[in-house]
Amino acid sequence: MGVELAVRPYRRRFVQPLHTAHGPWVWREGLLIRLKDSLGRLGYGEVAPISWFGSESVAEALAFCRAQGDGWRSRPIPDELPATQFALESALADLTGEIAGKEPAIPADSFANAAICGLLPAGPSVLEIAPQRLAQGHRTLKWKIGVHPATDEIRWLEQLVKDLPNSTRLRLDANGGLSLAQAEQWLAVCDRINAHPQGAAIQYLEQPLPPDQFDQMLELTQRYKTAIALDESVATVPELEGCWQRGWRGVFVVKPAIAGSPQQLEAFCHKHRPRLVFSSAFETVVGRRAALAIAARCSPGPAPALGFGTQGWFDDDWDTLTPAELWDKL
Ligand SMILES: [Mg+2]
Repeated sequence: MGVELAVRPYRRRFVQPLHTAHGPWVWREGLLIRLKDSLGRLGYGEVAPISWFGSESVAEALAFCRAQGDGWRSRPIPDELPATQFALESALADLTGEIAGKEPAIPADSFANAAICGLLPAGPSVLEIAPQRLAQGHRTLKWKIGVHPATDEIRWLEQLVKDLPNSTRLRLDANGGLSLAQAEQWLAVCDRINAHPQGAAIQYLEQPLPPDQFDQMLELTQRYKTAIALDESVATVPELEGCWQRGWRGVFVVKPAIAGSPQQLEAFCHKHRPRLVFSSAFETVVGRRAALAIAARCSPGPAPALGFGTQGWFDDDWDTLTPAELWDKL
């Protein structure tokens, strides 16, 4: 039985470019996929790759999808196309009714925001924005570091920690942009802050070093008390498996939209019970719904705040649309 596959590219602009250690991110580009079976049932999926995490390009995903036509299920999706694996598998799950209603309901209100990590901009504007995020109900906040000189960023952090209530948890994300000496400097600051709680505490330092410096990061986990999370190191399920086998027992940040097969991700989670934080890849409602459904299946019960505080970051009204409405708009 053939499954019809249609693809529509999208492009959306950040309200303000997102500054990371990889430079500014201005446009989010991806694909929406729609599957239709012979019964007329529809399933939506999304390809939302991130190039600096090693995902395939939008053009590669598009070429693969266009080459499928009917009967795409008869061919396995290559591991080189992890964002496409996520899109097609989750579109099929949507088609068979496994997505809608299976994700935790996260409306944009302050009660729900307590379960979601709020995102803070890099640089000194963090001091202005952080209280606004708390007013929106967030209790966990994530700040990008490694963008400005470390001495400035550490000064802003120390001010921030004093300004915020001690129920606040901060995640510092370096996107692999620190040197070993800078990572040591940051971890020493975090340990000092956490040892003398005057206000907010540091939950973890995320991906201090590039993925090829795994051994150094593993060693840092033994020398400092502040937890370290891997993100860029574990973009895909095979990379999660690899870091687990090499002894990583710290936090893993998982972006389901770029991790590859949702079934394989779930199998990894159930087999090892790792410390997981699920995170967005700045996908639309289509990928977000599927990613949250996976997060709910992989870590039932209380989980660390979800890294999905990405609504309102784009210069459009797409966050208010259903998958079908968004599809029709493209
Ligand atoms: Mg990160």
